[in-house]
Amino acid sequence: MSDIENKIQEEAKKALEGGDVSVVIGWGAGSAPFKTTPVFIEKPEDADKLVWNPACVNNLAVYLPKLANDKKVGIVAKPCDIRSMIGLIQEKQIKRENLYIIGLGCAGVVDAFNLDSQDFHLQDVIGLDWTSDGLKVSTTNGDYTLSCSDCLRDMCLVCTKREPAIFDVKLGEAVQPSDIRESLIPELAEERKAYWSEQFSKCIRCYACRQVCPACYCKTCFADRVEPKWTAKKATAEEAWMFHATRMMHIAGRCIGCGECERICPVGIPVAELAREMAQAVKDTYGYEAGDPNQESPVLGQYKEEDFDPAHHGG
Ligand code: SF4
Ligand code: SF4
Ligand code: SF4
Repeated sequence: MSDIENKIQEEAKKALEGGDVSVVIGWGAGSAPFKTTPVFIEKPEDADKLVWNPACVNNLAVYLPKLANDKKVGIVAKPCDIRSMIGLIQEKQIKRENLYIIGLGCAGVVDAFNLDSQDFHLQDVIGLDWTSDGLKVSTTNGDYTLSCSDCLRDMCLVCTKREPAIFDVKLGEAVQPSDIRESLIPELAEERKAYWSEQFSKCIRCYACRQVCPACYCKTCFADRVEPKWTAKKATAEEAWMFHATRMMHIAGRCIGCGECERICPVGIPVAELAREMAQAVKDTYGYEAGDPNQESPVLGQYKEEDFDPAHHGG
């Protein structure tokens, strides 16, 4: 067990024993050593089920609007999860005083699919650890070291905000990336349209990308509405365009780039790339970044005289 994992368990146990929180949300061991799963710890003696390793991918903030609405909960959180929480606080979906945040400095998390393309089989993996040389993968046939660019999830390759922005207790140190990856999206308008048409033609409209997104907390999503009816149920490329284009408008200025929508997509559509483009457009136009603790309200809740006005720019 790592030193940080030990400390997480101690902090969670303390918070539950003291009655400060009714539950601590964190990651527990998954069905394989390269996987973890969200766990909800309610008894101090269960705190040793909490783990911290490079496979702690889930953005646990997605559970907060339901769990932390009327009671205080503890949560173990990466910096991107914490940026989601800041957005939820700004949008008044949760109260800061209802959270006990065990914030973690981050070195990134891994993409299990990338691990599978290396010199060993996923089923032989028995442990993952960050070292100064990269990711140490322990297997039944020996140890391997992978460079970060060979194993980090896409959103971690572009992430420079690896320190928790707000927390009640902070554990571990951030490790900044050595290089930043470039977006894979073609820039020319026609190529871009063709790129996304091809991607959306694969979409089966399962809505997993919506379910896993902490910014998608509407009680009734537009996609499920019957009156008015925004999209038809059939899984065609046209309806997928409608769903994704509308969802992108809804998360503009609210997506913090955790990449969960992309990780969960069963057909491999890079949804987070689109969300990242939208976030960049909001930043370029209004100088606003989601998840910034120094902002008092979301971008759509603010008005400044100098704000860009499309009506005055032929938009
Ligand atoms: S996106 Fe950033 S904060 Fe989140 S897991 Fe990756 S490196 Fe850590
Ligand atoms: S749209 Fe995707 S990347 Fe953005 S906050 Fe939601 S799940 Fe995370
Ligand atoms: S998770 Fe993938 S397949 Fe499912 S609705 Fe989202 S983009 Fe479409």
